[in-house]
Formats: sequence, structure tokens, C-alpha cells
Amino acid sequence: MIVVTKPGIPSFEIERICAELRNWNVTPEISIGTHKTIVGLVGDTAEIDPRQIQNLSPFIEEVVRVEHPFKQASLAWTYSQPSEVIVQTPSKTVTIGKNYPLIVVAGPCSVENEEMIVETALQVKAAGAQFLRGGAFKPRTSPYAFQGHGETALEWLAAAKEVSGLGIITEVMDAGDLDRIAAVADVIQIGARNMQNFSLLKKIAGVGKPILLKRGMSATIEDWLMAAEYILAAGKSQVILCERGIRTFDRKYTRNTLDLSAIPVLRTLTHLPIMIDPSHGTGKSEYVPAMAKAAIAAGCDSLMIEVHPHPDRALSDGPQSLTVREFEELMQDVGVLSQVFGRSQPSQFANATMKRFDLPTAIDGSRTIGG
Ligand code: PEP
Ligand code: MN
Repeated sequence: MIVVTKPGIPSFEIERICAELRNWNVTPEISIGTHKTIVGLVGDTAEIDPRQIQNLSPFIEEVVRVEHPFKQASLAWTYSQPSEVIVQTPSKTVTIGKNYPLIVVAGPCSVENEEMIVETALQVKAAGAQFLRGGAFKPRTSPYAFQGHGETALEWLAAAKEVSGLGIITEVMDAGDLDRIAAVADVIQIGARNMQNFSLLKKIAGVGKPILLKRGMSATIEDWLMAAEYILAAGKSQVILCERGIRTFDRKYTRNTLDLSAIPVLRTLTHLPIMIDPSHGTGKSEYVPAMAKAAIAAGCDSLMIEVHPHPDRALSDGPQSLTVREFEELMQDVGVLSQVFGRSQPSQFANATMKRFDLPTAIDGSRTIGG
């Protein structure tokens, strides 16, 4: 349930309302917007009659019951305002959200050695990425497959961060590694296989870093939002949702089925920012550019792309990794599409040109696209 206040409510009145609300055994959480202050009621509100709350103050405009089982993750929780995740990377502040420029995360599946991660960081940065991704602790289907270089890889990620100034995204699998990961990562990833590891979700909320929550490979959208709810309920974490493909009956030609319809669906359900990972979503590098571009058109806030200097020699996920050259080419198109969909930032895609699309004139000949 949320309590929406009228513009101009004095702060002592908000405090008084909150004190009253605590009598109902709920925890009020205040969020101050530009025009309105919203008080979310955390806890069991099933027995509370919204009219009783409405009567608490003439400054209350509306009391809204959140109908979904996910509460703090729901769009109603913010009174339909999209939320954004703000990350202070070494070189700049990066904001991920619906009303902000598209953010690109790129890098190898696994951090294999210091040289490759530093090189890749510099190259993806030059192409326009804001974050470097790379796994130190890898969730592998086979116990005999490469499991990641662990703590050593975190040191290599730290080196890449220092040299490139990029933000770092890396996955946690074991709560025991959280502090070490948080010391390097700007955003901590919960992988698809751990989406419903509820004890890990509760612990990660205490770390104070933004969380990238990947969709479980067989998770419904509601399962996924309930997993986000675990993180939000356990602390004040910022959460980004990442669609990375789900299991369907067809696995012959693609590794997963990238559910791009999740983007418009999530927009009706949640305020959380949305990232799309077409690399795991397709499992094949040749399909990644098409799905990355489709994701921008469908309105994602961010892309995660696996990039490896030598995909044929990668220790994990080589077949779905773009070469640096392929990534640079994709970023040209990403730059153009970001402009078309109003999601570009002036300095981000300095090299983007319209020539690949050659779309200067609209059908009636009256306007040009992209100026
Ligand atoms: C990854 O990002 O490398 C990864 C293992 O992703 P997922 O959890 O989506 O499989
Ligand atoms: Mn991978």
C-alpha cells in the first residue's frame, strides 16, 4: 500500500502520518519526488482499510493498494515513476533507467588473465561501453569445466577498472565472497542459476551495492519480480533486472529463447530498470547484434554483451562472444538506434553515423531522421 501526499505537505505532517502508520505494524518508507511525497507501507497491509489511512490527514491525496504479490518492485510502489540506478564509476556517474541514455555493459564471460581483461576493458570502452563485465566465480553446468580464477580474477578486474575507469559488474555465487566482490564491483550480478537462492538474495541486500538480477532460465516474470522483492525487502538496494533468455522447447538453433516481450510486460508491472543480455539469450555470436538492436527498439535501458579478444580460445561462452571488431561494429548501430529511440547521450557514441542505415528522408520527404 502507498500513501500519496498532496503537494506542499509540511515535513512535520509527514512525520506525524508515519508515526500513526507505525501503529498499524507497518514500516513507512518515505520517498520524496519532485511534486509529491510517497510513503510506502512495508509489511502486511492485508487487514488495513485504505479509508482509515486516508482519514489520518487532509494532506493525503490518495491511498493505493498494491495488488501484485511483489510490492516494492511494483510500478504502483513508485506511483508509476520509473526508478533509476545510479552508479559512481571511477570516471563518471552512470545512471541506468527508462528516462536515461542506453547503457552498455561488455566484456568476456570469464576473466582469464590480467592482460586480456585490461585490453578488453580499454577496447570496449573506446567503442562506447560504460561497464566492464567478467566472471571471477563462474557457475558452470559441469564441475569439470573451468570454474573461474576466483579471487585472483577480482584483482585483475580491479586492475582493469583502474586503467580503464569503467564500472565493473561481476557475479557472486557464494555469500562468503560478497565482501571481496563488493570491494571491486560497482554492480554485483546474481546469475540466472541463483535467481531464487533466497538466502543469497537476503545477504546481498546488506552490501549496499546495486544488484543486477538475471532472470532464472525457467522463471516466470512473477518469479523474477518476487526474487527482486526479496532483495528490496531485505534492504535499500537498487536493483536492475536482466533478461538473458529462457528455456523453451527449441534449443537446436539457439541456446535460450530471448524473451524480448518481457520489456513491455515489465514496464506495466515494475519501476525497475531493464537490461537485456542477447549473448546468453541466443548462445551464438551471429545472432547477438540482431537481438541487441531489437532490444533497443523494444525499449531496454541497458545491454550486456559478451566480448572476447579471441572467442575461439575463450575458457567459457566463446561461441556467443563477439570479437572486439564485431562489438565495435555493433556499437555503431547501437549509437544510431539510440539516437532514433531518443536514448543516446551526446558524447557516448561519438562515432555513430547514419550511413549504415541510410535513412535520411522520411516517406513524405519532409523531414530527416536524426537531424
Ligand atoms: C554470465 O553472465 O556469464 C552468466 C553465467 O550468465 P547467466 O547467469 O545469465 O547464465
Ligand atoms: Mn557467460
